[in-house]
Amino acid sequence: MHILVISDIHANIDALEAVLTEAGEVDATWCLGDLVGYGPNPNDCVFRVQHLPNLVCLIGNHDAASIDQIGTETFNYEASQAILWTKRTLSQPHKDYLLTLPSIITVGQFTLAHGSPRQPIWEYLLDTYTATQNFACFDTPYCIVGHSHIPLIYQLMDGSTSADLNIPQAQHLMQLEPRAILNPGSVGQPRDRDPRASYAILDTDQLTWEIHRVPYDIQAVQDKMEKENLPERHIHRLSTGW
Ligand code: ZN
Repeated sequence: MHILVISDIHANIDALEAVLTEAGEVDATWCLGDLVGYGPNPNDCVFRVQHLPNLVCLIGNHDAASIDQIGTETFNYEASQAILWTKRTLSQPHKDYLLTLPSIITVGQFTLAHGSPRQPIWEYLLDTYTATQNFACFDTPYCIVGHSHIPLIYQLMDGSTSADLNIPQAQHLMQLEPRAILNPGSVGQPRDRDPRASYAILDTDQLTWEIHRVPYDIQAVQDKMEKENLPERHIHRLSTGW
């Protein structure tokens, strides 16, 4: 099966459409959460994702905050301003849909969570120490997470007790060795200094993983955010990718 793996769309419909167009026909889509927050089109993004065929979709911290499942105390000032705007803007049916999303799920050989298998909503896997601890928190050969907005692979090689960090190159087909924690990067707000939308194609038969980057009209999204008075910092970071 060819799976489109996406995460952290963050209400950026232009980036999402660019990804869906480039990815083309797939057998299923796995979405690791944060459909909303930061960006100007939360309703369009929820609608588009929820109607994708053979979808598995998880809840992220921004989704959870937008439906009052968690508080905004741990969000910084600008992020919580964006959450308040999102709460006002999201339609009730779309809020109801976000409410149905699980925070962690297992599909075949893969455990899926937004942040980490240990703390699905919150934890960032940004270093090998934290990743190593998290290998004890899932039973499948592989785990896929989002949340950090950076495409990364942590591998636990045979006999090793600590994880290796691998930064996958775009368009490079990687053979997956058990065990690994994979991150497809962010569709709507990349933070690895490459502003292009990021996604992965997973082949569950061949066990390959390929990161793709796709350009989209960043200026158009920034103009919409400007119009809605969304925080300047979030507008600016779309073009720096940081
Ligand atoms: Zn996010």
